[in-house]
Amino acid sequence: MNTSDSERLSSGFTNMGFDSTDDMANADVVVLNTCVVRQSAEDTATGVLGRLGKRTKGNDNRMIAVMGCMVGPEQSELKRRFPYVSVWARPQEFEPILETAGMRHGLDPEGCLSGAVPENPNVASFIPIVHGCDKFCTFCIIPYRRGRENSRSALEIVHQAEIMVERGVKDITLLGQNVDSYGHDIRPRIDLADLMEQVSEISGLERIRFQTSHPNDMSLRIIEAIRDLPKVCEMINLPFQAGDDTILANMRRGYTRGQYMDKIAQIKQMIPNITLTTDLIVGFSGETDAQFERSMGVLREVEFAKVHTSEYSYREGTFASRKMTDDVSREVKKARKVTVDELQKVIQGKNNATLIGSNVDVIVEGHKRGRLHGRSRGDKLIYLNGLVEHGMEEPSPGQTVQVEITDTSPWSLEAELIATNVKKEKVLVV
Ligand code: SF4
Repeated sequence: MNTSDSERLSSGFTNMGFDSTDDMANADVVVLNTCVVRQSAEDTATGVLGRLGKRTKGNDNRMIAVMGCMVGPEQSELKRRFPYVSVWARPQEFEPILETAGMRHGLDPEGCLSGAVPENPNVASFIPIVHGCDKFCTFCIIPYRRGRENSRSALEIVHQAEIMVERGVKDITLLGQNVDSYGHDIRPRIDLADLMEQVSEISGLERIRFQTSHPNDMSLRIIEAIRDLPKVCEMINLPFQAGDDTILANMRRGYTRGQYMDKIAQIKQMIPNITLTTDLIVGFSGETDAQFERSMGVLREVEFAKVHTSEYSYREGTFASRKMTDDVSREVKKARKVTVDELQKVIQGKNNATLIGSNVDVIVEGHKRGRLHGRSRGDKLIYLNGLVEHGMEEPSPGQTVQVEITDTSPWSLEAELIATNVKKEKVLVV
């Protein structure tokens, strides 16, 4: 979400006539986009701000702006601590930053944000469609910092997607803290399934994804859209966060383990080739060994393709920080995370190995650590080999190629290129 916001603001600056620079010490305008979902991230942001302040002394013309979720509704304490910051902007509040920069440099920000899309976006890019969250999980700071859910209009989203596709994007991920609730706050009502149908109409766009989902808002219509719309990839990130009902209730997630597993069963029944990933917190307040073991049970049963595991960390301002005790030791949290990672290594290694010999459609993204790579519809990272041996030209970023999987690890796949002219039907979805 923050990467996407930074790109959008950066395009607004470019449209206004600014050039970008990597030289922060000599920049006329510095915008620090902050993520403070964890206390450690907030500490890092304040450290960078402190260093920027030292460099600013004696350079009164420089403008420093801070945006993102470090900036809550109440900013007086931030203003007192960092008096040299010119603009404090809440997430997606781009206008005051552009207006202040424009005033200082005699440039007009009018219209600079509409259709602000990077000149050279990545083949796989993101579009935020709903900001904020109404759920108030007890461990999470997001609703306090990013505010309540606020959906963008479908017209604006489709327009942004069209420009991105014109500039080479083939794979768009629609983003929201709770993306499944898209549209409930706009009239006439629209939902994520309707939006994906509209985005699907864009010629030249090949793949659509979305994240992150909440099990309670993953509706039948959304599951049907994944099943029925050819451009929507068969993948869902469905966080479960904990496998024990008491912990889930203490987190105020709003569902039980049984309800979560029923949702998984429904999805697997309707879309047998679905790729499922999830988010899990280990060591939440009061989590016993037996309760952690119930999370492990969910992992063993579902066999997710990827698990984003966080060790629970105290976050000031959350309900949990006020009413619960962070009583699981750091060592135990670390050990539980290692246990999850080891199990996932086995599950992912085993499931990826079944793909050896299969043919897969890959959209080439470019080079990573010097190696040509791309992604499948199921978001598997695939390295492409054998071009020189077969006398083939290197495919360009954005090109869809067909490959045969030759080797696998728990985290990525190795493949040989078979064809660079791929008909747009699905070969195998991984
Ligand atoms: S649904 Fe996600 S973003 Fe919203 S409060 Fe819960 S964890 Fe935070």
